[in-house]
Amino acid sequence: MAGQRHRAKKSLGQNFLVDANLQRKIVRALGAGPRDEVLEIGPGRGALTGHLAGRVHRLVLVEIDDELAPALASRFADDPSVQVVHGDVLDTDLPRLLPRWDEALVVGNIPYNITTPILFHLLRRPRPREIVLMVQREVADRMVAGAGERAYGALAVGVQSVADVALLFPVPRTAFRPVPGVDSAVVRIRPHRPPRLEPEEERRLRILTRSAFQWRRKQLQKILRRHPALNIPEVAVDRLGEELHLDLARRPETFSPDLLLELVRRLPDDALGD
Ligand code: SAM
Repeated sequence: MAGQRHRAKKSLGQNFLVDANLQRKIVRALGAGPRDEVLEIGPGRGALTGHLAGRVHRLVLVEIDDELAPALASRFADDPSVQVVHGDVLDTDLPRLLPRWDEALVVGNIPYNITTPILFHLLRRPRPREIVLMVQREVADRMVAGAGERAYGALAVGVQSVADVALLFPVPRTAFRPVPGVDSAVVRIRPHRPPRLEPEEERRLRILTRSAFQWRRKQLQKILRRHPALNIPEVAVDRLGEELHLDLARRPETFSPDLLLELVRRLPDDALGD
């Protein structure tokens, strides 16, 4: 197996999935077929890669590790459908790497320390068809949480406003080597097709959400009136509550992504600037 003798690097979030049943289960969840182009993020020693190579039209692996990337390249040297990119996925122009990006599938057991940046990198426009990721259990819970739940916040709104997201199954820490300090879960993210929001609405929703959950213990109306990033005139806030028959004295965590979007759509154009 590629890089078998290599030592796991904590700085790169290396916890290798050694349970073969779970490896297969994750790849099955992706449901990639012979016509699909697949991106795998952080293939490491090839735990998922081995179940994908040869079964899809094209498999692109992006791995940052200086030992593991060359090891993967030599392991798959005879398979022209596999391409190894040695680099940081966050610096990689993914739609350029996979020209049919909007049809592509993405899979990865990704490093815990950069889960959110990777998620937002993948959810920039244009978006791939489907993403199956192994993430920390707590992050999975935050992605799928509904309004009013403890885990609900900016991450849930950010993901759910552009995609359908589901927690598929939990993965115990004992399935990895070295054994990490937390449990994991596999999530599936299907970006809305076509996107439901205009790019400008997405941008404005991000600003509102970030500000609202920064002050999550305050009433939404106070945040709308006072948060320095928002710039909303008092009268516009009063009008909003009346127009939507909404009690804006509630805390932000009780507002669903749809409701927050409704607020964004009704706020004056010059509010929610950069
Ligand atoms: N997929 C393998 C598995 O399931 O056993 C490895 C998973 S390990 C949690 C994360 C992998 O991502 C490691 O191989 C690590 O070197 C790689 N990685 C870390 N940061 C990365 C980055 N910025 N870009 C690409 N790969 C990265």
